[in-house]
Amino acid sequence: MSTSPVIIRASSFGSLFDCPARWIAINLEGRQVPQNGKAALGTALHTGTAVFDGERAKGQVPSVSAATDAAVEAVRRPSDETDWDGEQVNAEKIAASLTEKYCREESDNHFFVAVEVNVEALHLTDLNITLTGTADRVAFDEMGYGVCDIKSGKQIVGTDGTVRTAGHAAQLGVYELVAEAATGLEIRSPAKIIGLQTNLTPEKQRIGVGEITGAREVLLGDADNTGLLTTAASLVHGAIPPWGNPKSMMCHVRYCPNFQTCFWRK
Ligand code: SF4
Repeated sequence: MSTSPVIIRASSFGSLFDCPARWIAINLEGRQVPQNGKAALGTALHTGTAVFDGERAKGQVPSVSAATDAAVEAVRRPSDETDWDGEQVNAEKIAASLTEKYCREESDNHFFVAVEVNVEALHLTDLNITLTGTADRVAFDEMGYGVCDIKSGKQIVGTDGTVRTAGHAAQLGVYELVAEAATGLEIRSPAKIIGLQTNLTPEKQRIGVGEITGAREVLLGDADNTGLLTTAASLVHGAIPPWGNPKSMMCHVRYCPNFQTCFWRK
């Protein structure tokens, strides 16, 4: 059993419970697979929209072209090794058009006070884990301060405009802890997911917003339920033996470094 604090990146928190064996291979054993084109496109959309919202949060006049240029550049030169599987040209088109749509139609609906707030290390000494990561946005609304997370994908926004929020509470709860530690602001407003639907045809791209109230409760638990932070600590320190989840959407040779030798995948 590990006795040193274990670092958990906020963005990886959900994947720890999706397949603990895969999470351990990547995050504790340092085994990697190239990121896929979908993840690289997501990073590009984060990059472009952050340029625009960063200027807004600083009180500057934001530039749509600077935002789209940054998104396109992120597709052309991703910082991590990427397996595009022939999709890089399309990803560039989507990054440009969807970033522009976000800047023109969505950004102004939010009053952002901080963009890409980062915490180097949030030590949870009683659990012997350290949270680290970046919250996409902190916004202010009638309920107070809250986090906004930008998520992209083909299915993230339905044709009726509804954003798929199910399964994201734990990760957004971690972002709330990160944002509070980084900004000193009290996070009270429901967490929001700003969904960017990545259709290749710009006219069919959809942007929507979904809310999660009480995101932190699943992390902290209550009188009847053990919070996921406690379970996460037990997993990463070996108090609970890890298991594999062959039903995971990430159980694929392109996404999991364990795939060829995995005990759990029969
Ligand atoms: S191969 Fe599948 S079950 Fe095994 S660690 Fe990877 S994702 Fe989990």
